[in-house]
Amino acid sequence: MSIFKHYGNLLAAMEKHGDPICRTTDPDAWFPEAGDGHSRAVRYAKEMCLECPLLVECRLYALVAEEQHGIWGGLDAMQRNKIRAAKNKAAKIAV
Ligand code: SF4
Repeated sequence: MSIFKHYGNLLAAMEKHGDPICRTTDPDAWFPEAGDGHSRAVRYAKEMCLECPLLVECRLYALVAEEQHGIWGGLDAMQRNKIRAAKNKAAKIAV
């Protein structure tokens, strides 16, 4: 599925459920400074994501878009990169 389709799915979910908490509270919690990955604010953001009705669409979009900054769908950039690397490795083994 294309990045545009995933982005459309995220927008559709936002239209259905309304603005998520990351858009209505302090956005800095979702975009911490480098090296701040385990701060209280980041832990709070990740916990809030787990309650968000947009989690699946948000996470899939960020993975496909290769977002390198911020918390998306409860995952930070390092976690997303690990998932992508594992997926790429699995795809190579399957060929
Ligand atoms: S799951 Fe995505 S949309 Fe929902 S609060 Fe987290 S970052 Fe925001």
